[in-house]
Amino acid sequence: MPPTERLYYQDSHLIEFEALVTDKTDRVSGWTAVTLDRTAFYPTGGGQPSDTGTLNGERVLECIDDEDNGVLHVIQGRAPEVGAGVKGRIDWPRRLDHIQQHTGQHILSQAFVTLFNAPTRGFRVLHDACEIDVELTNPTNELIERAVELANNVIWEDREITIKSATAEEAAQLPLRKDPTRAGELRLIEIEGFDLTPCGGTHAYRTGEVGMIAVRTWERAKGLTRIEFAAGTRALADYRRANKTSRAVAALFSAGRDDTAKLAARMVDENKELHRRVRSLEEIAARVEADELYQKTQPGSDDLRIIAQVLDGRDPESLKHLAVALISHPKTIALLGSHDKETARLVFARSEDASGDMNALMREACEMLDGRGGGKPDLAQGGGKNVAKLAQALDAAAENLN
Ligand SMILES: [Zn+2]
Repeated sequence: MPPTERLYYQDSHLIEFEALVTDKTDRVSGWTAVTLDRTAFYPTGGGQPSDTGTLNGERVLECIDDEDNGVLHVIQGRAPEVGAGVKGRIDWPRRLDHIQQHTGQHILSQAFVTLFNAPTRGFRVLHDACEIDVELTNPTNELIERAVELANNVIWEDREITIKSATAEEAAQLPLRKDPTRAGELRLIEIEGFDLTPCGGTHAYRTGEVGMIAVRTWERAKGLTRIEFAAGTRALADYRRANKTSRAVAALFSAGRDDTAKLAARMVDENKELHRRVRSLEEIAARVEADELYQKTQPGSDDLRIIAQVLDGRDPESLKHLAVALISHPKTIALLGSHDKETARLVFARSEDASGDMNALMREACEMLDGRGGGKPDLAQGGGKNVAKLAQALDAAAENLN
């Protein structure tokens, strides 16, 4: 069987074509797939996702490059019979998106080579952006934005993109951006006066079709710099999302969009300061509350006061403040608990002149709460998920002390 003629090699903008079915198979995960004598569908490969579309009106879910069988077209619905003539149609918005991301990658990768002699080692088209891994040793926002600037200038100069073929010997003499990954006749993609690279993907006719490139974020990854970018319609979609988010934040501040970072930073600072003030006020309140609790608790034998109490809506910090305030009184043991819907919390503490191992008591109590905890003989903290048993755990701890 002759190999499938790949029409997208000649024309990346061809979206309708006619062909003959040459084979049919059910071996693609239970789906039926057909091969054709010629196809405009681009199969998954080279970091570029597959085209989708229709064959005789039936959905083509994915195309897979299959060495022996050419391009497998996975069909949802009734697959045509071997020998039948079919009309194929590519989903153009998806193809255009891939053309923009893929051609955008050629341009951005060459921009990093031109400016910083930094080649690209990997490329992936993600759900709503793309990633390249660049050998950029000291990445900064400024360096990366310089490459983005150059790439966009190349886009707006609307340079011509041509497809050439060359033998391995010819290619060896050419300034290719990356080494060919296959032997034999090579397909070279040339961006006029800017980039020459071997590639089997689908590209724009001219750089202007890419629209624009924007970098979303970057990070160091395994000795390389991983750069997340969006080109063309994805860059516009990303701008819309970013703008919507920042305007929503700006509305909270009743301020202009571009002032929000400064305002948010100020709010975080103010919040930290408020937090400090709340803590110091809580300490004062805890002393007052501790005095009241101490006064209304009758001393037991040996003048010891055991104050076991569940208090609603306290975080671990304020619970601890109260316990510490309580044990500033002589001969006092504080067994305090609090809870929200999901978590029960405990603090056990004793004054210096009282006896008892708070750590051991806490471990037992936490077991009842299906949780964990511990500390020192005079102060221990813990908690668990079994909120319903909180009062029972406190009673058991008080019981243990008597
Ligand atoms: Zn390419």
